[in-house]
Parts: sequence; C-alpha cells; structure tokens
Amino acid sequence: MSYSDKARAAFQSELNNIKEAGLFKEERYIHAPQGAEIEVEFPVGSPPKRVINLCANNYLGLSSHPEVVAAAHDGLGHRGYGMSSVRFICGTQDIHRQLETNLTEFLGTEDTLLFPSCMDANAGVFEAILNDQDVMISDRLVHASIVDGMRLCKAMTDTYKHSDMGHLEEKLQEHQDKRIRLIITDGVFSMDGDVVKLDEIVALAKKYDAMVFVDDSHASGFMGKTGRGTPEHCGVHGQIDIITTTLGKALGGASGGCVSGRKELVELCRQKARPYLFSNTVAPVIVSGAIKVLELISKTTERRDKLEWNTNYWRKLLTEIGLDIKAGDSPIVPVMLYNAKLAQDVARDMFAEGIYVVGFFFPVVPKGQARIRTQLSAAHDKGHLDKAAAAFKKVGAKYGILGLNKKQIIEKYGM
Ligand SMILES: *Cc1c(COP(=O)(O)O)cnc(C)c1O
Repeated sequence: MSYSDKARAAFQSELNNIKEAGLFKEERYIHAPQGAEIEVEFPVGSPPKRVINLCANNYLGLSSHPEVVAAAHDGLGHRGYGMSSVRFICGTQDIHRQLETNLTEFLGTEDTLLFPSCMDANAGVFEAILNDQDVMISDRLVHASIVDGMRLCKAMTDTYKHSDMGHLEEKLQEHQDKRIRLIITDGVFSMDGDVVKLDEIVALAKKYDAMVFVDDSHASGFMGKTGRGTPEHCGVHGQIDIITTTLGKALGGASGGCVSGRKELVELCRQKARPYLFSNTVAPVIVSGAIKVLELISKTTERRDKLEWNTNYWRKLLTEIGLDIKAGDSPIVPVMLYNAKLAQDVARDMFAEGIYVVGFFFPVVPKGQARIRTQLSAAHDKGHLDKAAAAFKKVGAKYGILGLNKKQIIEKYGM
C-alpha cells in the first residue's frame, strides 16, 4: 500500500491547517441556469433558496441567453458533441476557424487562436514566443494564470509596481539590451476593478521599442464604447501586440480562451504553444454559442450600455449608504471590509437577506484587504440593485460600518 496512514495523515493535517486558518472554501450548489436570480443550496443539504446573484462574471447577461442557447443547440446538431482530437490532428472544424476570424475582427488584431481556456492561453503564449534573450516585465497584480505562464518561459522576468508608469519606464530603460521587451498587464484587474493605463503603456512601448501584452478577460465585450475591451476604453484599439481573453466571462460564460494579436506571434502559438497542442479542441457547442455572442454584441451596444448604467447606479447607491467602495470604471465594485471574518459575516447575512455575494480574503487578496467583491451584470434590473442595496444598508447597520472610512473600520474590527 503506497497510500499509507502516514501519507493520509500528512494530507489531512494540511487540510486541517487550511480550515484552522479560516481559508477553507465551501462550494454552494446552484439549482438553476446562471442569471440575475439563481437558486442556491447553502449550506449543502438545505432547500435551494432564490437569491439575487452579485458575484458572477456574467457581465452581459449572455450565459443563459435564449439565442445563445439556441445557437449552441444548433452547433450540437450540425457539428456534434465533441471532437475527440486536438486541433492539429483532426480537431479543427470550419466553425473553429470562423470564430477565430470573428474574434480577430472584434478585437482589432491580425489573427486569433482558440485555447481550451484563457488559463491555457496564458500558460502557453510566453513560452511559445519568447526565449532567453528576452525579458517579460509584468505589473505586480497580474492574474495567477499569467504568473504561471511566465514561470514556464525561459525569458527573464521582472515586475513593476501596480500601474506605476514611472517604475515601468525605469524597467524598460534597464532592459534595453534585451532582444525583446514584453510589457505584461491585465486590462481590468479582477480584485480591485481598476483599469490599466493602456494609453500610457502603449506610449512607453513605442518610446522604448517594447511589445504590449494585455489579458482582457474582465473587459472583452463591455469595456469601451462598443465593448472591444480596454484598448478601446483607453483609445489604443488596434495597437496591442498580444491580447489574451476568455469566453468564460462576458462572452457567453461557457469556457475557452484565445491568443489574439500580431499574425507571426499567433502562428508561433499554433506551432508551439503546449496547451494548444496537447489539450482537446474547444467543443463545437461552445464554438457555435460564442459565434452567436459576438454577433449579438456586434449588432448593438445595448447590453454593455445597460451594464454601464447598472454600474454607475450601483456605485451611487453604495456610496450613498456609506459603504467604503473602491473607485473605478468597471463593473467590479469591491466593498472594503479589511477584516476576513467581517467579510465572511457580512456575506452570510447578505445571503440570509436573499443576496448572493462572497467574501474575499488572504490569499486571494493581500492580508488586511478583505472585501466583498460585487459584480454587475446587464441581466440585473434596477429592482435587483435597489433590493441588494437595501440589504447592504441593513447588514451594514448591524455591524456599525456605515459611514466609516478605512481607518475607522480597522479600528473597530482589526485587519
Ligand atoms: C478569469 C481569468 C482568466 C482565466 O480564464 P479561463 O478561461 O476561465 O481559464 C485568465 N486571466 C484573467 C485576467 C482572468 O480574469
């Protein structure tokens, strides 16, 4: 027996440590399609409860949209359930290439390659295009999947302080001897909801002959006047060398991701990126659904406009109530609580009030930065937001945090 009592005890002890540190993650079972209202079984074993959902990445409300579901059915009917192959053997259908072409046009790039997920796109892209003569200079708050992708690449790594353009410029000067300098950033940072200063980054890249990489997973489909993402929002659409993004958030929410950008770089990924070469093709049903998503959001900006309205309205409501929120332009609106237990208590009480939100604390955010991350959707209507704000007012009053600033909340609850 290789799985000895000793091994079992070691793993059990690690799990116990996670629990004792208050970091154990419990999953809640949802008995409904994704939407503005969902049925949630929590705690496990209790009857499902109907709640307003404020924590999905369903920004455009397309995850269960009837036209997307119908297109997915159509894909299922005409192209089958699965491909049982990677792309380069016998896994590329006409619709895969169609979706890549549509994404290229939508993102304003030269070519696009689908991956099983954006996590996979980030895991593969750097190693495929860079070598040990190059340097990757990343913002210190980039997504975990970028950190992992950088680890798999032989190029030198360096970082700059979050959104600190002066620091980035120093790094670019320092690495002028390298073959290629790649600046790496998220478009919208997922924990704080702040937007990258992409116009300034593009200007620095021109000045110091560098390339720009943006992971626009929390922006594609809704940031910018026509939803093209942070390059459009920042006035540099069409000027980004490499964009990665996900189909798992605003763009239908199923799964899949892509690398999109300069055609030589995309071709190198097609030839070399390991998660592309060695993992199965994105299922036809998802590809058909995603083609419909792009069609819907290219026809009208109605959904992203509604999301923008909801975001502004929600930020106004929470500010009026006296909650401490992070300022910004994105539909990610963090309610700052600083203390991990307080974040969990508030989330639990909100659930009792029929509002589904989740507390975030270390290691997902830095110590002393615990929060509830609320996320808006075009699927919300004003009534949902009014009801959720009323619940926040009631629960906030219970904990005596309304009108308090950061210092006062920390004085009261500790970090
Ligand atoms: C969600 C997210 C990912 C992962 O996307 P998947 O397609 O779910 O793997 C990657 N990068 C960022 C910035 C994300 O927010």
